[in-house]
Amino acid sequence: MAAYVLTIDGKAAKAAGTFDVVNPADESVVARCPLGSPELVDLAVASARRALPLWSAVPDAERAAKLMEIAALIEQHHAELSELVTREQGKTQSGPGANFEVGGAVAWTRVTAGLSLSAETVQDDKTASIVIERKPVGVVASITPWNWPLIIAVWHVMPAVRVGCTVVIKPSPFTPLSTLRLVELMNQVLPPGVVNVVTGGPEVGSQLASHPGVDKVVFTGSVATGKKIMGSASQSGVKRVTLELGGNDAGVVLPGTDIGPLLEKLFWGCFINAGQTCAALKRLYVHESQYDEVVRRFTEFVAAIPVGNGLDPKNLIGPVSNRMQLDKVIGYVEDARARGAKVVLGGKRKEEPGFFYPLTVIADATDEMRVVKEEQFGPVVPILKYRTVDEAIKRANSLDVGLGGSVWGNDPKEAAKYARQLECGTAWVNQHGSLHPLAPFGGVKNSGVGVEFNVDGLKEYTTIQVVNVAR
Ligand code: NAD
Repeated sequence: MAAYVLTIDGKAAKAAGTFDVVNPADESVVARCPLGSPELVDLAVASARRALPLWSAVPDAERAAKLMEIAALIEQHHAELSELVTREQGKTQSGPGANFEVGGAVAWTRVTAGLSLSAETVQDDKTASIVIERKPVGVVASITPWNWPLIIAVWHVMPAVRVGCTVVIKPSPFTPLSTLRLVELMNQVLPPGVVNVVTGGPEVGSQLASHPGVDKVVFTGSVATGKKIMGSASQSGVKRVTLELGGNDAGVVLPGTDIGPLLEKLFWGCFINAGQTCAALKRLYVHESQYDEVVRRFTEFVAAIPVGNGLDPKNLIGPVSNRMQLDKVIGYVEDARARGAKVVLGGKRKEEPGFFYPLTVIADATDEMRVVKEEQFGPVVPILKYRTVDEAIKRANSLDVGLGGSVWGNDPKEAAKYARQLECGTAWVNQHGSLHPLAPFGGVKNSGVGVEFNVDGLKEYTTIQVVNVAR
């Protein structure tokens, strides 16, 4: 079993104990992970504070070069990290799984290295020079979830480090190992204290988010925890926050859509990472004129997808990531069944080791079912019938979250017209969930505050200072 360390101030800190990280495919122990503590949070924040003046003074081009070195290092460790993600999280090696996640981590790090923020002159004449400058916000606390553990850590840490902030990251206790390795690798390149890591659950997270030595909290996770973090972040001062929270994305298939060529994209939109993706398609609205046909053809497509241990290259979907999530998914499907939905595929777990749940398609779903109203975050998709497109858009917009949404149709222009009416941060056409490192990503309504990626994402790790010189 490989050894993992809590890197604080550039070296392995003495942990408060260990906890088991469980492989969701067979319930074996992947590793005994070192455990954080309140003292270690204090040490990590103090280390990040000490490193801040030095790191923020490093010339911009040097910081960019360090990020490029880190990208190369992640790339060198691609196979190790990818296998680790599969073992701790469950996603497959094949398809858009663990290899895809590590590849994305490298790509996002490189793109972030290449971004820059320049000062903006708003006035330069004989009366005054007014320039908008940006400074690193300071010490950043990053708190991450278990669904895409490595790439979400990269999305938090790289832009922070790029602009001169220092970081303490706390990964989810379900999937801490890839983050511990990432931080260890980053510390081969960065000065001590620039990136530190602590592990633990809600108590450690809450202590970190409310810590007086932290200037900003970046959090990806559920809406419920996001609300608590907003509270914690105001306990000792008014910290900046970026919150990337849950969604419950709708997809609307326009009447008369030739569904055949879209089935593969529709499948991945719904089931990527066994549906455990914030911006996965979670409610599919189909016009009554082709409802039965779409349900039948989609179900046939889904039924042919191999599910199993992610380390076996023939599988495209792995298990649900942990027991807690599995129990939630079972509850959602049973609620739908009890309310009269037709489970046309899956819906019943085999007695086998691991937290597997079959790919499940639910027909005759209605807006009142929990699987439609709440974020179910599993390998399940409810299909709902609609009469008019306006009605479908209205129902799609009826929830209090708005991360992504999609419209599917033969004419992409017409589909885009409807997609713009969706209340969400990203509106897709004939696809769902694809991200680009230069396209800002974030939610509206309760799906979050702020965005990640590109220069807009970098700005979230800075504060503005206006330098106004009278002449
Ligand atoms: P979660 O909210 O349960 O936990 C996320 C992190 O917060 C974990 O590290 C956890 O230990 C920590 N935490 C829990 N309680 C805390 C508290 N009171 N104070 C501080 N930290 C605390 O989320 P999860 O179950 O790990 O992840 C799934 C959720 O994440 C889904 O809702 C999903 O939609 C969301 N998500 C959103 C995005 C996005 O970009 N918008 C991306 C991925 C996941």
